[in-house]
Amino acid sequence: MKPARFGYHAPQSVEETCQLLASLEDAKVLAGGQSLVPLLNFRLARPAHLVDINRIGNLDRIYERDGGVAVQALARQSTVEDSELAARLCPLLPAALRQVAHRVIRNRGTVCGSLAHADPASELPAVMLALNGHVVAASARGQRIIPAADLFTSVMQTALAPDELLVEAWFPGAHGKYAIAEESRRHGDFALAGAVRYGDRLALFGVAATPVMADPRDPTKGLQPSGDLEATPEFRLHLVRALTERLFAA
Ligand SMILES: Cc1cc2nc3c(=O)[nH]c(=O)nc-3n(C[C@H](O)[C@H](O)[C@H](O)COP(=O)(O)OP(=O)(O)OC[C@H]3O[C@@H](n4cnc5c(N)ncnc54)[C@H](O)[C@@H]3O)c2cc1C
Repeated sequence: MKPARFGYHAPQSVEETCQLLASLEDAKVLAGGQSLVPLLNFRLARPAHLVDINRIGNLDRIYERDGGVAVQALARQSTVEDSELAARLCPLLPAALRQVAHRVIRNRGTVCGSLAHADPASELPAVMLALNGHVVAASARGQRIIPAADLFTSVMQTALAPDELLVEAWFPGAHGKYAIAEESRRHGDFALAGAVRYGDRLALFGVAATPVMADPRDPTKGLQPSGDLEATPEFRLHLVRALTERLFAA
């Protein structure tokens, strides 16, 4: 299938992008396109306008900020995965990225795009939650910080307003014990269930509308995962227990 008609805009700066997002009705940001383009092609998303940010210069940096790793909106997932800075300051981040899709998808997909897309089965939102990181959102009204605990509001929904651009994700320096584990039907598929450990903190993904924090001693408490063709709710709960045990046995 082909996408429905849309207006195409290719701003050259963050300021121009913010002006466009403020003035256009029903616009979507296009970053790596690895989630948005399939949705457009299947007509599951039909925005009136696409704002392609790929021509903005100097928005692909990965740099140290406040002892952690700041990842700008156009930094590709594979670049962050290979980053010496990320490996040194926050090794959980490259470890998690290696579980995201396949390398060809990570060559285009962005870290910030994954956070903005907020798929409940995605690794990076859970990593950001486990680490207590934040994102920086820019709009014509200025900039604001959104902590991870407030960012993910529902299935593929975030606290970003329609006129906000996620300009940067920040992952705190993390040197405690860390690990990520997930189960999927095939390598590169979205997880049926997954778990991220940082020290005593446990974040789960694929088992609720958003990534959730859980008690490692009782990880399924309060969880009501949905069932689908790939896994029953009971199987997802079983996976959560098994993955948590694996992460905290290490
Ligand atoms: C076959 C396949 C397997 C995959 N497997 C996984 C997986 O296992 N785990 C996983 O986490 N992901 C997976 N993905 C998704 C992939 O990681 C995407 O790259 C990522 O989710 C979105 O990043 P993107 O830069 O491509 O964003 P896009 O597709 O360009 O955009 C996605 C959404 O985020 C919004 N957006 C993007 N950037 C910004 C921004 N800076 N500010 C505001 N809004 C923004 C867009 O408007 C859109 O709504 C898979 C994709 C494919 C095709």
